[in-house]
Amino acid sequence: VEMRQQRHIEDANSKINVNHFDPNSIIYDSTTDTTYLRGRLLGKGGFARCYELLDLNTNKIYAGKIVSKTRIAKPHQRQKIIREVELQRNMKHRNVVEFHSFFEDDEFVYLVLENCSRKSLVHMLKHRKMLTEIEVRYYMRQLVEGVKYIHSHNVIHRDLKLGNMLLNEDMELKIADFGLATKIGYEGEKKMTVCGTPNYIAPEVLQKRGHSYEADVWALGCVMYALLVGRPPFETSTLKETYVRITGNSYVLPNTISGPAKNLIQKCLTPEPELRPSLDQFLADDFFTSGYLPKTLPSSCCNAVPKFP
Ligand code: ADP
Repeated sequence: VEMRQQRHIEDANSKINVNHFDPNSIIYDSTTDTTYLRGRLLGKGGFARCYELLDLNTNKIYAGKIVSKTRIAKPHQRQKIIREVELQRNMKHRNVVEFHSFFEDDEFVYLVLENCSRKSLVHMLKHRKMLTEIEVRYYMRQLVEGVKYIHSHNVIHRDLKLGNMLLNEDMELKIADFGLATKIGYEGEKKMTVCGTPNYIAPEVLQKRGHSYEADVWALGCVMYALLVGRPPFETSTLKETYVRITGNSYVLPNTISGPAKNLIQKCLTPEPELRPSLDQFLADDFFTSGYLPKTLPSSCCNAVPKFP
């Protein structure tokens, strides 16, 4: 095996023109006899570190979510990763991070995922502070398309937030992180609890009134607000105060955003889940028809305001 790996590394080095894959950083998946080299750190989460992984059989670059087994010793921590694998592995859509494979060794668990080289909307907003309505139309349309697909598999994501909206090389939006997701078992089923803390938590989730798909629509309103305003709608300095504001539906829509955008955000942030728009209603909203909706965006948008014709 070692000799074969060595040959693969030499092969890969000559074929691809990158220098950040250290030949000493071999990761071997014995279940599929695949050798990977570990590259750049892509990001850190609560559980995982995410690195570029180069598959030496195909020379394709993936994102490897690597979780130390010491971090998933507790049952609820294991549960998160198992749920993530089970729910994500069957998803295949342009706007959902594709699951490639899953394996483990003595020390780590590895999730091999589609690589999103341009990081997340959090990184983008750090550089940009806020986005133009044209860009927000572009990202929100893709986000809702992805969520529609996820819901069509009877899955609620439950943690739609800027950090889970990743971008690939071509600036396509990909929904990531199914760690808090859940499957709806029968029509009308209400979930009572979430094992974890969703970022843009809906009031019915917070109050344990029973929740379903509409909790994701609430989060869509929060994401859209955050992209246009530069901070989330209910943000305060403490979680407790934020929860008071969510329960009281107390947020301010600044006058810098357009009428159609305000309207759509307001509809999503309705306290009664059943009164929020469906995903089809969301896509048919005036917001999308009231202005330019680009098919693609240049990568320069990651750090500079785009100029549109
Ligand atoms: P955790 O489950 O521990 O919170 P995340 O799924 O949030 O881990 O991943 C941690 C970070 O790794 C993310 O914030 C993101 O920057 C990066 N990341 C995750 N998945 C990918 C991917 N498919 N492509 C590129 N970067 C990724």
